[in-house]
Amino acid sequence: MTSPASAEPTPVSERLGSAMDRAAAVLSSAPQAALVCHVNPDPDAIGSMLGLAGALRGRGAEVVCSWANDPMERPDWLDLVGDVAPIVEASAFPESPRLLVTLDAASIDRLGVLEDRVARAGETIVIDHHVTNPGFGTINVIDAHASSSAEVAYRLIRQMGLSLTDAAAACLYAGIVTDTGRFQYAAATPETLRAAAELREHGFDHARLAQALYEDGSFAFLRVLGPALDRVQLLPEAGPGLVWTYVTQEDLARAGAKMSETDDLIDVIRTAREADVACALKQQPDGLYKVSLRSRGATDVGAIAAAHAGGGHRLAAGYTSMIDVPGTIDAIVAALRAPPGE
Ligand code: 5GP
Ligand code: MN
Repeated sequence: MTSPASAEPTPVSERLGSAMDRAAAVLSSAPQAALVCHVNPDPDAIGSMLGLAGALRGRGAEVVCSWANDPMERPDWLDLVGDVAPIVEASAFPESPRLLVTLDAASIDRLGVLEDRVARAGETIVIDHHVTNPGFGTINVIDAHASSSAEVAYRLIRQMGLSLTDAAAACLYAGIVTDTGRFQYAAATPETLRAAAELREHGFDHARLAQALYEDGSFAFLRVLGPALDRVQLLPEAGPGLVWTYVTQEDLARAGAKMSETDDLIDVIRTAREADVACALKQQPDGLYKVSLRSRGATDVGAIAAAHAGGGHRLAAGYTSMIDVPGTIDAIVAALRAPPGE
């Protein structure tokens, strides 16, 4: 599409529409596609990747999916869904794919060791909904207003007129349901609900899927929750208010828990009405703390994360802190008192 020769920048919606058209044209005819989502994938990352992979496979394309965790842990909810598309370890992912598709990865470094494939790919289609995404592909289908990458992927699948198996539909549904907080967040638009309703027309057991996604925590997580809630702190004077806690590798070892089992911690502490911002610090095996930030609505935590080389959304974001727990909290408190850019 040619843009009129004027000083006016192309409107976002027009840019997105043209990217959708180009992505649909490429994806409709590619004989092969290599799909990758971000490290430590959540259901939106895996769901959008497998949903699109399943649709492409359904029209005869050869697809392969991966993410860069080593070892790679398949989430339990996938067992319920069944086979959608081949998933391989990062070490077995194509070195120089003709067509690479990244899903839900807000920046190139979120691809981990698979980051180098972007430079080696013939074409890279970026499918995402993070406002902080710089657009590191050759075709960037980034809708910062979309509820989820799964919703963006579903729109593309619809535009291409591809059909979905029940299992592929379940994957997309899992991405939408989780990234909207079960249709709770502001980004859950009527269009989101229509997409979810269309996906629900398929023959998958959504009640069992929801249970696998939401009520399938471990007893070990409850034992980590104990010390984490014991040391939770409220800082009402920190700008809009901050409630925070942390989890160490020692907590995990004592409870027999894996860090991936503590994802719900932030959802517990963010319920405190006294603070707009919630923060959970989780110590990684290398000792560094992964920071999870959430706002109840008044604070742009995405800007705070971006200022620390992380990213995410306005109300949900994260980064890896290079300093200790007190220093990390001091930096967040300082940012809450003097928001970036003000
Ligand atoms: P969570 O707190 O659940 O790990 O992440 C919340 C949001 O922030 C997600 O949308 C995720 O994509 C984003 N996010 C978390 N950690 C990072 C990070 O280190 N870098 C970037 N760019 N985004 C992150
Ligand atoms: Mn997402």
